[in-house]
Amino acid sequence: MLSDRQITSRRLLLVAAGMSLLGIAGCRGPAEGGGGGAAEGAEAAGPPGPGAVPGSADPSPPAEPSPSPSPSAAPSPTAAPSVPPPVARALTAAETRPVYELDAERRVVALTIDDGPDPRHTPTVLALLEQYGIRATFFLIGENAVEHPGLVREIAARGHHIANHTWSHPDLRSLSESKVREELERTSDLLHRSTGKVPTWFRAPGGDWSSTSLKVSADLGMRPMAWSVDPRDWARPGTGVITDRILKDVRPGAIVLNHDGGGDRSQTVAALKTYLPVLIDSGYRFTAPPG
Ligand SMILES: [Zn+2]
Repeated sequence: MLSDRQITSRRLLLVAAGMSLLGIAGCRGPAEGGGGGAAEGAEAAGPPGPGAVPGSADPSPPAEPSPSPSPSAAPSPTAAPSVPPPVARALTAAETRPVYELDAERRVVALTIDDGPDPRHTPTVLALLEQYGIRATFFLIGENAVEHPGLVREIAARGHHIANHTWSHPDLRSLSESKVREELERTSDLLHRSTGKVPTWFRAPGGDWSSTSLKVSADLGMRPMAWSVDPRDWARPGTGVITDRILKDVRPGAIVLNHDGGGDRSQTVAALKTYLPVLIDSGYRFTAPPG
């Protein structure tokens, strides 16, 4: 863990870099598929400001890269050949480091849902989010997205944020730069063709970041998003355990990791039904990057 002095100096650096809203932690979070408890290395964010959502944090550069689809170019599978190539904006140095938590002084939570889409669970998750008026971030796997394009469009149409979780969910640390680029670029291209939007956030499988994957994601204009609350729902410990872990670990600014793909996620879905209303009743609001 960082000392108070280190945290203070890092905060000053963040403020100097214009990162007024997001907390950037330099160390790895727990592994998505077998790591320890949640929130290791999580760090409180800098001073609060309006609209604490990832992607709108840096006041200097444009919050979202172009291109956005023109009104006449509604995304559809048949539109693929005419979609212009993605244009990545240059990230600041601070933006190339994983974000573990949001502004800790606001009672907001970012719900992130990984490894889908999956027709067994994603529609139920979408219905729940709609019921509670929650916008979430879906980190989609390209292999699943290409199998279920209708679900990808539905997630986007319901206003959720769609982000890049690689094409085949490999351990990126073991891949060459060209292979990492292929994993990320292929997924971004597909999601762009499906939704008309270029992904601006990326998550490494397992939270296993590497200098190569961070470089490639920056080249593609994507910021890395980690998490601070991991209920290890992928291991199916039981709905009650998932719920308890989340409610115990959530605090203002938390980024919560859940899964709607990669296996039987019925426990996760049941836990969402339980803990979402509890968090709402506790005064939490949910946030996601724009788009
Ligand atoms: Zn994953």
